[in-house]
Amino acid sequence: MAVTVFPASTLRCGNAVLRTGRLDGQDVILVQGACDVPLQGRPLEVGEQFAYPATYENMLIWERKLAPQARLQALNGAGFRAGFGAGNRIVVAAGEAARLRVPSALGGWEGIFRAMVRSAVPFWFLQQSIVRELIPEGVHAEDHPGMGHTGGYGPREFLRAGLFAYASLGGYTRSALPIGADADHAIVTGHDEQSLNASLALNKLALAEARDYTKFTVDTSHLFGFPARPGEADRERLHSTFAGRTFRVPNILPGQEGFSFAFEPEDVETLAAKYWTACRVHCELYHHIAGLRGSQPFDYELSLDETHSPTPPRELLFYLVTLHEVLGLPAGSVASAGPNLGFVKRESFRGDLQRLRRQVNACASILAHFGAMLSVHSADGAWASEGKGPGVDAILQEATGGQAELKVADVYQELLWDVLASSPHPNERALFLEAWQRCLEAAAALATAYREHLGSLSPQQFPAALQSEPVRAQLAAQLGPRGLQHVLAAAPYGLAVFQLAAALLEEARRAEPNPRSELFRRLMFLVYRPLRPAIFEELCQESWDRLGSEIEHATTMRLQGMGWLAQ
Ligand SMILES: [Zn+2]
Repeated sequence: MAVTVFPASTLRCGNAVLRTGRLDGQDVILVQGACDVPLQGRPLEVGEQFAYPATYENMLIWERKLAPQARLQALNGAGFRAGFGAGNRIVVAAGEAARLRVPSALGGWEGIFRAMVRSAVPFWFLQQSIVRELIPEGVHAEDHPGMGHTGGYGPREFLRAGLFAYASLGGYTRSALPIGADADHAIVTGHDEQSLNASLALNKLALAEARDYTKFTVDTSHLFGFPARPGEADRERLHSTFAGRTFRVPNILPGQEGFSFAFEPEDVETLAAKYWTACRVHCELYHHIAGLRGSQPFDYELSLDETHSPTPPRELLFYLVTLHEVLGLPAGSVASAGPNLGFVKRESFRGDLQRLRRQVNACASILAHFGAMLSVHSADGAWASEGKGPGVDAILQEATGGQAELKVADVYQELLWDVLASSPHPNERALFLEAWQRCLEAAAALATAYREHLGSLSPQQFPAALQSEPVRAQLAAQLGPRGLQHVLAAAPYGLAVFQLAAALLEEARRAEPNPRSELFRRLMFLVYRPLRPAIFEELCQESWDRLGSEIEHATTMRLQGMGWLAQ
């Protein structure tokens, strides 16, 4: 039997000593001596120790009963006004440890952890979208080809793997601050009642699987402008809430000028038409989560940023007033919100920094007025060494007084490709070249679909077109099953991804393979999952170490930029 022990995990519980480890490629909890707390499952005898499977239930027993202190917390609810969301997408999930060339690898969390122990603010150590990166266990994968692109595991497995890594790295023994687990971006979509209800059912299922997370982020941006109007009674409540009122909001920065907003009846009509359904859904899912959590506290985040332009601060205020005063969401139930600040995913910010400052300061002030924190979504720039672009973190820090969350994710996956592409070992470089080739293939499928079928459609027509059997049959005939698969997997990201593939394909075909090329960075999610087993089989200790250092460095740089390094 091959045993790997993670010494930093060592806990004492009564007369027993407990450690995490890996036994023949399975995550286990090793117990030496008598332990009162019953772990589940049948243990294997390993010398003087008993090895219990590190299942979901057993990792929660570790967290809640065996550890000297439970570490998972609703961080905002506990009073923290700042934090770092680290969306690791590398992750060694159940069954994958057996493939590891380096049996002690913890899939990217090593570097995040090393940065975290130097941080003055707590981390959401776990953070992935529960209906985009993750795929709930209760859905049929074939029905959702774009879902689960980081590995095909669900919210429960992600939490299990994250707690196992956290324990193995010494989280329960060496870490001063608690951690959060963010069931990130539940994404509600729909163009009519039927599609909206289907999406709500899917998201409720995902949320139920994420019930042991401590934070829930719900995105309703796709419902802005949904064709449903408030009923008569609600309209009256809206108008009486806003009529003749001036909303005064102090600046989050002491001594600086505050804000005031007023809404004419026509504004109320226009904004209600835009936001009513989104607000209603935010309310409904809040109550759904409250039901799942029972007496356990949780943080609730509104994601409002998947729009084409920055959120006007007055509309953010309108949204929050409608939620609380019209729809009756209890005061303090919104822990944070991510409005559109003018950032684009995976692009560094190149706009006007003073305008950014005004936007960030206004949004953070409005949120603080409701007891909520500004959450900065899409905080990844073009690559790790850039952060979100020169000067951006300093603006975010200054304009919020450091009361914010940064949500970072893509950068960690990009560093993995960097490490492979620049590896001294040919077998590791070959993996990147394979990914590059597959990416070009995927891009070719997207480009053809765009030119011949999708390019002339409006953004409204586009989702329905890909649901239609005749269109799918045509695409399958032309692109083959794998091409169709790429098209369907890219579809949730909208027409822009297809347009990008069409625009960049020829140039990418002529270029040297490069993990930082625009095309690769934007499409690698389509080819990542099937290559994971090979990556785990090839990656050597030296490369894992390099990846860990790169991740640590990228994270530390952002902490430093935000003034969040403990010293
Ligand atoms: Zn968002």
